Amino acid sequence: MFSPKVLLVNDHPASLLALETLLTRANENNDYEVVTARSGEEALRKVLHQQNDQFAVILLDVSMPGMDGFETAEIIHSHPRSASVPIIFVTAHYADEMHRLKGYQKGAVDYLFTPVIPQILQNKVSVFVELAKKNLQLEHKTRELAELNRDLQVQQMQDLKRINATLETEIVERRQAEERAHGLATRDPLTGLLNRRSLIEHLERAISRAARQKTGLAVLFLDMDRFKTINDTLGHDVGDELLIQVAARTRSAVRDSDVVARLGGDEFVVLMEGLPAYPNAAEVAKKIVQAHTPAYTIGTNCLKTSVSIGISLYPQDGNSVQVLMKNADLAMYHAKQQRRGSIQFFHEELNAKLLERTQLQLELQQAVEREEFELYYQPKVEIISGRVAGVEALLRWHHPRLGLITGAQFITEAADSGHLVPIGEWVISAACAQARRWLDSERGLCKMPIAVNIAIPQIHAELPGAIFKMLHKHGIPPSCLQLEITESLLIRDLEKATAVLREISEGGITIAIDDFGTGYSSLSVLKALPIDILKIDQSFVRDLGKNLGDNAIVAAIVNMARALALRVVAEGVETKEQLAILKNLGCDEYQGYYFSKPLPADVLVQQLLHTTSA
Ligand code: C2E
Ligand code: MG
Ligand code: MG
Repeated sequence: MFSPKVLLVNDHPASLLALETLLTRANENNDYEVVTARSGEEALRKVLHQQNDQFAVILLDVSMPGMDGFETAEIIHSHPRSASVPIIFVTAHYADEMHRLKGYQKGAVDYLFTPVIPQILQNKVSVFVELAKKNLQLEHKTRELAELNRDLQVQQMQDLKRINATLETEIVERRQAEERAHGLATRDPLTGLLNRRSLIEHLERAISRAARQKTGLAVLFLDMDRFKTINDTLGHDVGDELLIQVAARTRSAVRDSDVVARLGGDEFVVLMEGLPAYPNAAEVAKKIVQAHTPAYTIGTNCLKTSVSIGISLYPQDGNSVQVLMKNADLAMYHAKQQRRGSIQFFHEELNAKLLERTQLQLELQQAVEREEFELYYQPKVEIISGRVAGVEALLRWHHPRLGLITGAQFITEAADSGHLVPIGEWVISAACAQARRWLDSERGLCKMPIAVNIAIPQIHAELPGAIFKMLHKHGIPPSCLQLEITESLLIRDLEKATAVLREISEGGITIAIDDFGTGYSSLSVLKALPIDILKIDQSFVRDLGKNLGDNAIVAAIVNMARALALRVVAEGVETKEQLAILKNLGCDEYQGYYFSKPLPADVLVQQLLHTTSA
């Protein structure tokens, strides 16, 4: 660190030397540096040319030739660089007050009178040196502070940048999270299609647009046929994969601008805007049905499925989301009832049918009490011997308004509305009573077993007990009763069903799998079940002789049944040709209009007696 300077100005060399000596002597610690000047001009040069304002004090002789002390002081103080340097005048005019006043006016801070008293000189100088030092320290600190401030600013800047960068990443991540959340909220996670909520929003907007622009729109309600069976039989992984592929095929069957959504389960909706909707919707629906015709390959499985489609149109079938969706759903329900893979437009009649269904369900509730049911019986015939091997009991309803209606017309309704269990109990009891009557008759009908159809809701732990109680009540052997259970329904809850059926089978009652071929049962499932008979579904029998594929399926079922030691019965045989083919294929029994329609017990007996006696 540099030391302050003290400037001695005196034209008189001896005085200058004396002052210099005095100060040098007192400056043992080298607290300051002594600089001398022999005139005002030289003093000015030294003061004004030095770099920093380093003079702690100037001891200025007042009377000098040329520029005197006052003049020199004035110039020194007029320069900004040296304006604040303290000046002490050195003079011999001790008593001249005017002279002293003038000095102060010229900026003197003090006066020294010659001869100078060394102690006073040294004290005064050291005060100013100390002051200068303090000033210098202060400046130094100020500079340090400034630097620190600068560093701090740099640091702050860096911190700020870092915070900013973090903030930006957070914003990006948050936007991505928001997008993901939005995706989750609007998309079906399995298929990536829009979900129900999002569809409703789209439909609301589409309706407003169509209303404004006076155009139409179509809501296509799709439901896969037999999905539940596939899912239950082959497992959820296969079911999920199938849904993904169905979604993809549906998506690619429509325009990019059409909205495709999955409502859940196997239900999908396509929303088409801005159409002369009627012909276009039919065209697109056909395309979608066709898209699902080729088989699906999922792992090692080759699956055939189809979709049924119901269509509602804006504005004619409704002008709100609820009504359009409800009507498309209703139309889909009717499409499904017609046949698999069909298309149905909504029309008011369907609503009438819905009302009819609701009414029917109410009436079903009271039908048992009102004794409106009757069992019809349809014979099962051994193909080789032509002997009647047994009968199937089929439920008929003497409906107060609609007349006689068949099982096909109300059994599903009864199952859907939960009325099947009491009806089923009535059927078993009526069949047992009939078996008793036949046992009691003297006409050789006693051995003819009666097959009763059992629906899934009936298959619960109490069923075996209830059946055996009924057999006991009517005093009939178990060999007089058979149970028929529809394949596709059975495999939905296989484990429970197997246990219940085993108990029944062990009690001596024969069990048949009904509508076989519609439910995708695997060999292992069949092996696990305690069954005795396979009934080939009518759909395979109908086209025997016309569709060689069906011949092959029936042949395969017969072979499989042989391998498992099961009897095979063909359902729905209507012609001599069908019967001949079945005989050829090695089928054991048949049932169908060709031999006899289902008939009331007494009519059937009359007919059988007539045929045998003929
Ligand atoms: P299913 O057990 O497969 O019964 C055969 C159905 O085919 C009967 O219809 C019968 O009338 C009809 N059918 C018989 N031969 C022929 C033929 O040659 N050609 C044609 N086209 N049809 C024929 P139905 O009586 O309407 O019964 C339909 C279904 O309703 C039954 O199918 C059965 O699953 C169910 N069902 C009938 N009665 C009962 C019952 O008492 N309880 C339960 N749970 N279900 C029943
Ligand atoms: Mg049956
Ligand atoms: Mg059947």
